[in-house]
Amino acid sequence: MNMMTGGIVRLMAVQGQMNIRTSHNGVVGYQKRSKRQRLASAMVATGAVRMLEKFPQRNCLVVLNYHRIGSIGNTAGDPNLYSATPRDFEEQVRWIKKNYHISSMDEAIAFVEGKETFRRTGILLTFDDGYKDNYDYAFPILQRHKVQGTFFICTSYIGGSQLPWWDQIAYMLKTSQKSEMVLNYPERLSFDLSASWMQVLDRLLAIYKSGHDLDKDRFLREIGLATGTGDLRPNERIFIDKDELKEMSEGGMAIGSHTHSHPLLSHLSQEEQLEEVVSSKRLLEEHLGIDIQSLAYPVGSPDSFDGRTQAALREAGYRVAFSFYGGSNVAGRTERFDIRRHHVGIGDGEALFRVRTSTAAVMGKPLF
Ligand SMILES: [Zn+2]
Repeated sequence: MNMMTGGIVRLMAVQGQMNIRTSHNGVVGYQKRSKRQRLASAMVATGAVRMLEKFPQRNCLVVLNYHRIGSIGNTAGDPNLYSATPRDFEEQVRWIKKNYHISSMDEAIAFVEGKETFRRTGILLTFDDGYKDNYDYAFPILQRHKVQGTFFICTSYIGGSQLPWWDQIAYMLKTSQKSEMVLNYPERLSFDLSASWMQVLDRLLAIYKSGHDLDKDRFLREIGLATGTGDLRPNERIFIDKDELKEMSEGGMAIGSHTHSHPLLSHLSQEEQLEEVVSSKRLLEEHLGIDIQSLAYPVGSPDSFDGRTQAALREAGYRVAFSFYGGSNVAGRTERFDIRRHHVGIGDGEALFRVRTSTAAVMGKPLF
């Protein structure tokens, strides 16, 4: 026990040295990935994770955040959005079900409101953005294992084939024939595209997310000009359509709002924020005939929502909202409009997934 505690402390010290890189929706990857994975593999190989699985579990709610399920392959969009292959996802569901309690959204809400206790740590599986691959791959796996997932839907994307802003930027960088790109807006900036376009993607996403006064459509047009890729022609549908959404809801899945048009809510006025959360709730409720009680903030970082957002959620009748900057949720110390989630990344590997989840169940927050 002492050895393991010491090991965990040493691992946490290493964690502090890692450089976190972000995507449109918060933390999705780490530059020193191999070191983190090696540590996790060592914890699995030495039996530390098996021990953790046997430890008394905390009465807490661990919320996992997935985006896309599938293989990165030749994706037109941002590869960082992939959380797991269908096979890995099914393996994760099987492992969680064996060791923890897969919580429904109703149970999670009851936990946050102090009306539910988890004897085994509750794990809530959530999916953001409403990509069609969620219907194709995640939904049948969840049904097969008789557990619930929660799908946060951006209502303006339903049935859509238009790439959202983060995928558009990734697509333009990836398909550009240029070795250097010069932007003239929001300021004159040049980027080397001959090396790693993924690093340029990180920088452009950061500009998009940080710019309160940024004209976001103009910024996207400017990237199109600078990369020489121009307008994107959508060819195939990439988001869940209305029929699929209904089938998922009737098939036992929970549905929540991810706003109407996926803005950074804190960049909007009070009225605009209210409109985003009210209209998406109403559209989903009218279509599905159910109460929409939950929302996931677009991007989900601490600066992506504010007190005005939470006032708007209260006014619109939401009961809970989910952020996305790590952490977990301990009984009695969870804020209803800032329920913490941590990410699942396709490149993380099974060992890291298990270390993160099992340490969260024992310590109240994930080690990595
Ligand atoms: Zn999103």
